[in-house]
Amino acid sequence: MTIDIDDYRDVWVFVEQHEGDAAPVSWELLSKGRELADETGESLIALVMGDGVSHLAEEAVARGADHALLADDPVFEPYRADPYGEQFRALVEERKPSIVLIGGTHTGRDFAGRVAVPAHAGLTADCTELAVDDEGLLLASRPTFGGDAMATIKCPSHRPQMATVRAGVFDASEATKDDVDAAAAVEEVNVVVTEEDTLSTVIERVVSDVVDITDADVVVAGGAGAEGDFEPIVELAEALGGEVAASRAAVDEGWVEPARQVGQTGKTVRPHLYIAAGISGAVQHLEGMNDSDYVVAVNTDPNAAIFEHADYGIVGDLHEVLPALTAMIREKQE
Ligand code: FAD
Repeated sequence: MTIDIDDYRDVWVFVEQHEGDAAPVSWELLSKGRELADETGESLIALVMGDGVSHLAEEAVARGADHALLADDPVFEPYRADPYGEQFRALVEERKPSIVLIGGTHTGRDFAGRVAVPAHAGLTADCTELAVDDEGLLLASRPTFGGDAMATIKCPSHRPQMATVRAGVFDASEATKDDVDAAAAVEEVNVVVTEEDTLSTVIERVVSDVVDITDADVVVAGGAGAEGDFEPIVELAEALGGEVAASRAAVDEGWVEPARQVGQTGKTVRPHLYIAAGISGAVQHLEGMNDSDYVVAVNTDPNAAIFEHADYGIVGDLHEVLPALTAMIREKQE
């Protein structure tokens, strides 16, 4: 398939929503998309799909999009891959965006391929860093080889350049544009899919019990220093109403499930309080937690690198320090 790359311009961000509430990753991508669009000198365009979701298109403009495309129709509620993929594909074919960013959520991962494959576009999945080079090409980076290396991928000869991006890696954009008429910057697009064209039907929605540490306000993380005994970490997390997390070393040992790993190849968290117990402070771990408001480190080694990134440091054995902290907190709660 031959295309003229010069026909393609602008940065698109897909605003994922469920029942009218935007997924947080949407606003994170919008702030990164704004940066990229400013660097390439193009427009930032938000794409909103759903039923009765014009408020989100307006919010996207208030949060920094130059304008928003709105596909508003009952066929888009609840989410199904076929109408979303087909509508998105048709818009890409018609409008020719240069860069398309989609959250690396279950939804984004589910339909992004339906847009990329017919367009013969390059799609880099689950990115943790985005930038543009001197020629305005998207540089999409993600962990590879089971997390042992980082790969940066660019697509010089096809468009659009597509990426799904992990939640929590960028700051969310704020609603700062209160002096513009957001509604005027929203364009309602022609809906090209119908219920009759749609093969799938949602029979039931089941809420998964897989943990999500990315939303937690307090995270208590343990590392190799826990030596297989995570009880003090679990108890402190419970006392603080927080979530348990872990370094990769602890996950590799099988002490904690992979969904709780923090770092380059795990989750990115930004809690108010992050307690790192028995964690040395490797760069790959820091990458997943160094935007926390307050970091408390507990480590037997006074020279551990984690202390350089902590607001408060306690030199000591976590099996003594954590139970003492838990007891103090419980006492105050009584
Ligand atoms: P260690 O480095 O072994 O540190 C254990 C610490 O516990 C030490 O500082 C020690 O002094 C202290 N300690 C020992 N006993 C006690 C005790 N009783 N009480 C208190 N402190 C004690 N790592 C991640 O965490 N997340 C990632 O996503 C990740 N991705 C990676 C991606 C790549 C490409 C690569 C190459 C590596 C990645 N790693 C990641 C691994 C990372 O480099 C480190 O190996 C890992 O973070 C170390 O985990 P740790 O701090 O728990 O263990």
